[in-house]
Amino acid sequence: MLSATKLTKSFSDVHAVRTVSFTLEPGHIMALVGASGSGKSTLLNLLAGLADPDTGDVRLNGERIPGPSDVLVPGHPDIRLVHQEYQLMPNVTIRENIDYALRFFEKNYREFRVNELIKLCRLTDVQDRIPRHVSGGEKQRTAIARAIADKPAVLLLDEPFSHLDLPNRLIIRDLLFDLVRHENTSCLFVTHDATDALSIADTLGILRSGKLIQLAPPVDVYRRPATAYAARMTGVVNIIKAKHLSLFGLTEPENSDELICLRPEQLKLDEAGVKGTVQAVYFKGSHSEIDVTFSRYVSFRLLTTRDDVRINQQVGVSLTETALWRLKS
Ligand code: ADP
Ligand code: MG
Repeated sequence: MLSATKLTKSFSDVHAVRTVSFTLEPGHIMALVGASGSGKSTLLNLLAGLADPDTGDVRLNGERIPGPSDVLVPGHPDIRLVHQEYQLMPNVTIRENIDYALRFFEKNYREFRVNELIKLCRLTDVQDRIPRHVSGGEKQRTAIARAIADKPAVLLLDEPFSHLDLPNRLIIRDLLFDLVRHENTSCLFVTHDATDALSIADTLGILRSGKLIQLAPPVDVYRRPATAYAARMTGVVNIIKAKHLSLFGLTEPENSDELICLRPEQLKLDEAGVKGTVQAVYFKGSHSEIDVTFSRYVSFRLLTTRDDVRINQQVGVSLTETALWRLKS
């Protein structure tokens, strides 16, 4: 089990990581989502023992992970970090890049394990090419293969989905699932885009200005975000003043400036509903998102599977549920 306790790290006056605590169980996947500059990469470096925290510590099964100022070679053999830039050796093949990570092992095992990794990371067809002659997704999978070669307990990944097209993102997702299932590795990845995190992670954290403001199963963060920021980081959302709910016949709460988090799928087109005007239509394939304006101050985004909705059309809208989530701040 990996545990971080009150980790803090500042760079002069920038508080990059602020009292971050969590635990990660073996075979679990955690995702931390935060905007650019929220401290994701700094936190990963602390977890991997590649940077010294100002305060707090990182432990693996109770044993403290030393920072670079405590050891000759920074890092820990049981915790591996895959950087955003993959740092492969440019002049040797994909296979040799992976093999190098196992150079201290005996020849037969080495060959067996490299074959296993090439299969796990879906690199069979490109194993004899040099990094320059493979795709970005394949480079990344080579970096992952190398990182997990000697079976670390924890794999950390910095923005593993950010430069990949959809097919490659799905391969990485399946690879992570295989890894936790077959090797019981713990995975922690950080990202600025929650799309993949929602469907992959067992636990999802929201990082804002170095602080972990929420940590819960993805469905809970999505449905009951701690703040407006957590709501926006996990998908499209309408953040509205509670008083505007009177539009739908809901009674006003005592504090009418209270904010309500309404996901687009909590609203639907309904001829019997409140009348509004379509301002925009965004076709998404399986559905469309549409913006409907009800007055100068009130407009909502909602989902529809209809494809006959046009801009400036008058439509009716109703709520699909009345149990709405009120934001605390
Ligand atoms: P993210 O990975 O979420 O984009 P980072 O961890 O890279 O965020 O950075 C968090 C904050 O710390 C940013 O404000 C960044 O400018 C600052 N920072 C990161 N590394 C350094 C450094 N080595 N020196 C000074 N400031 C840094
Ligand atoms: Mg970063």
